[in-house]
Amino acid sequence: MNNILHLLPEEHLGASVARLHHLAAVGALEHTMRRLGASKHRFRPHRLFDEDDFSLSLLYESNGASDVWHQHAMGSYATVFLKKDEHIQVDEARLRGGPLLNVFGKHAVLPCCWRWCVSCAEEDEVEFGTTYYHRDHQLPGVFHCDKHHMALTDGCQECGFTVELLMHQNVPPVDNLCPHCGKWMGAFDRYFSEEMAKVESRSLALARHPQAIGYYEDYIRRIRGRAGLNPTPINNVSERKRLTSWLDDLGSYFPPDMLAAYFQNINVSQSNRASNFLRNPRLFDPNTPRPPLHPLVHILTEIFVQQDSCISEREFTERCHE
Ligand SMILES: [Zn+2]
Ligand SMILES: [Zn+2]
Repeated sequence: MNNILHLLPEEHLGASVARLHHLAAVGALEHTMRRLGASKHRFRPHRLFDEDDFSLSLLYESNGASDVWHQHAMGSYATVFLKKDEHIQVDEARLRGGPLLNVFGKHAVLPCCWRWCVSCAEEDEVEFGTTYYHRDHQLPGVFHCDKHHMALTDGCQECGFTVELLMHQNVPPVDNLCPHCGKWMGAFDRYFSEEMAKVESRSLALARHPQAIGYYEDYIRRIRGRAGLNPTPINNVSERKRLTSWLDDLGSYFPPDMLAAYFQNINVSQSNRASNFLRNPRLFDPNTPRPPLHPLVHILTEIFVQQDSCISEREFTERCHE
């Protein structure tokens, strides 16, 4: 299999094994996974820190690819809001094995199923002789293909089929017909607002930027400045009052429909569960011992503080590239 061990443009690292299996292997997908050194065949489309992603990256890199974890998995997205010592811990885990970082909120964030763009699938089939799952299409907060400006497909509206496991659909179907009922699978057609479009473009920018050590410290300075807090926490009564008021504003800023699109098991009347993520000390306290928080929650906070400021999308993207 080594002679076909190459990633396609913007291909999702974990899903590449399912594509290789589809093209060249027989038997069960889990056997192909094991052959390539991956231990899990059941995994979410946006796992953040995972030893399978680290070992698959090294495997492709030994075959000539470069910077695989950042370019084909969630490396940049997962690490951008880490403290400097956590960056070191991740590098250790990637290169020599070691404890993986736990990310608060990772089980609550959507999507749970694999998604694709119908136009990308058609073009990929023509250009590469196969369809495949793209990394950017699996990002939380992203609902459209950035290349074709089309809504992503996440299953069949007719019978409810979704790709929760890659064994159910190794690659997106060329004809886009549902493998269960044979009907055309339509694209995402639910609540989507201007604010969600901002989350989408920021999520893509973060996933595509090169590794940004120091971004979190810069983020904390900006957030504290916008909330009217001292750069270094002083924990007196007036600062606590200011913080409480700012957190209340943050928690009530996003409409329940929007939060329900991002977090699991939240219906419109239960959006306060998502609001709990928006009170996590990682959002504003540089000294908190809490584990890293899911990047999506930081992105929502950045959108909130920029609502009436003049930071443009271009400046934001540039900051990501610093
Ligand atoms: Zn597309
Ligand atoms: Zn169907």
